[in-house]
Amino acid sequence: MAVIYTKLTENIPTQVTNPTIRRLALYWDEVRSAADSALPPYAPFSPERNAALAANLMVLRENGDGFEYLYYGKAVVGASGFDMTGRTTRDYGADFSDYILTEYTASLDGQRPLYTVHQGVYSQHANNWESLILPVVGEDGVRMIVCWISPQERAADLLDGIMRTSIDPIFILRPTPDQGASTDLLDFEVVTVNHEVYDLLGLTGQIIDGWPVSRLALNDLDQLLENLTEVWRTGEPRIFSRVLATRYGTRQYKVSASKAGDKIIAIYNNISELLEAQRALESQQATLETANRTLKSQAKDLVRIAQEREAATEDARAAHQVLADLIETIPAPVFFRGHDSGRYEIVNQHYADLHGGDKTAIQGQPMESFMDAERADRIRRLHDLVYESPEGHRVEVMDHDSEGGGERVIQANLAVILTPEGGPKGIVGVLMDVTEEHALRQELHHAATTDPLTGLANRRLFFSRAEAEVERCKRYGRPLSVVVLDIDHFKRVNDRFGHGGGDRVLRNLALIMTKAVRTYADLPARFGGEEFVILAPETNLVAALRLAERLREAIEKMVTKIGRVEVKVTASLGAAEMDLASESDSLEKALSRADRALYAAKAAGRNRVMPGVGIAKAPPKTASSGSR
Ligand code: GH3
Ligand code: MG
Ligand code: MG
Repeated sequence: MAVIYTKLTENIPTQVTNPTIRRLALYWDEVRSAADSALPPYAPFSPERNAALAANLMVLRENGDGFEYLYYGKAVVGASGFDMTGRTTRDYGADFSDYILTEYTASLDGQRPLYTVHQGVYSQHANNWESLILPVVGEDGVRMIVCWISPQERAADLLDGIMRTSIDPIFILRPTPDQGASTDLLDFEVVTVNHEVYDLLGLTGQIIDGWPVSRLALNDLDQLLENLTEVWRTGEPRIFSRVLATRYGTRQYKVSASKAGDKIIAIYNNISELLEAQRALESQQATLETANRTLKSQAKDLVRIAQEREAATEDARAAHQVLADLIETIPAPVFFRGHDSGRYEIVNQHYADLHGGDKTAIQGQPMESFMDAERADRIRRLHDLVYESPEGHRVEVMDHDSEGGGERVIQANLAVILTPEGGPKGIVGVLMDVTEEHALRQELHHAATTDPLTGLANRRLFFSRAEAEVERCKRYGRPLSVVVLDIDHFKRVNDRFGHGGGDRVLRNLALIMTKAVRTYADLPARFGGEEFVILAPETNLVAALRLAERLREAIEKMVTKIGRVEVKVTASLGAAEMDLASESDSLEKALSRADRALYAAKAAGRNRVMPGVGIAKAPPKTASSGSR
């Protein structure tokens, strides 16, 4: 037990640096002045009234044989390791008991606070205790002590704490004694080291206190001694690096060495991980830089590619625009339908006009979205045919478009566009509305093949149809006949009713003929004048005669009103069957035989039917030339 400092003083507030002690000492003066007595009352100093200080307070009461502890603060319990509440100063060993008894009595007798610093011998740790002993008096007049007490942190305690808690190895060194006044490097020995050093060096079961550092420094001993000597001589702290061979491997340390009294404290700070991290960082940096360079060059490439592509895109866009403009200027519906997408990827306004006029409703849309399913299906099949056609690539089709009013006739020119690899890219279609041309053509065809007066087939149509029918009947072994008809005494009709009247009779007769024949099989024709011919396929001579007779009867009954006059005519008819099995027979020859039969009918008295028989040679010119 060592009493470091004891001072009964009036000047505590100015001499002690601890602010709590200064404040308490002043407060004691105030309370005593207010009480106007030798000792101030206890109450203002009780732990209850001084909650902030309570942890460091002890309250004692004089009991004749020393002092009894009435209160022992939590901080005091914590620092000393025991609680004295309810016990007396006698419970301490004689030394300490005498010491505190002396101090407390001195304070009470001197009627002054007492400031003391002592080294605690009973506490677990060798703390210095700083105390302010306040003499007070209880309500019952018994003398009391209120003591504010706190473990005082000393440098040695701090060092001890640091040594114990540090995760860094710490060496306490001092120069080896008896080195004279050498100006050379000093030698140092270990005073003590912390647990970390033992752990690192794997030193179990041996105490290295007193070892010369040379025994521990396996490398660069001079460098270590140099630094330590420098710290010793200059008194300036130094930081230097050391490598320690530890049981965890070689480690790099940053050593902070500083002089403390007659010793040097060397704290080893492990920077291996730091260096490792730094190396990793550096290599990472290097990797990053490499990656960066690669990226930069790649980026350059990318930029170039992007520029090229942009230029290409620009070209393509320009080309596309030119194409779009071009397509738009074509005065016809134009479309491009992609092979893979199956969609109308490009259309012009004329095309859009065929389907409601909205281009955006068509472009890129499936066919069904702008035309009915049946039509889409038909067009798709048509396109498939175009794709399949080996020479194809270009076809013309007639497409009847009845959408949006009257029936239109559309001519589609379709061409397959190929990819550079030769595969189908799509179909370009240029459509033409040929409704008018179509009508005109039909009209021309009609005019060229029809008798304008009666609307019956003319000689040209008769022969073209007859040619096909002859072939067909020959192929299927079917018969074919012709019937010729001539009005009896027609000159008289003309003479009496004029040419117009005659025409009216002719038209009426054509009507009767049309009704008398089979609509789709037989072909009545007007060869000229009042001479008519009927082509009767699938009809033998007997049937042809029956047809002629039926017709003759119908004509006989026919009445044509010219003005108020009801005109009646008769006709003579000749029928002949073509011998399809015979190489030498022909349609012309059959017509000649029918003509001769007609002539015979005229000769026989008119208004009758006569069969033409045998394979006639050329008919006698005289017999039919008049009516041809
Ligand atoms: P048949 O035949 O009984 O011997 O006496 P036909 O008076 O009919 O004599 P033919 O057949 O030889 O005469 C043809 C007449 O038909 C001559 C002409 O005046 C008349 N004809 C011919 N073509 C037309 C026509 O297009 N219109 C009218 N109205 N008459 C025509
Ligand atoms: Mg006649
Ligand atoms: Mg005639």
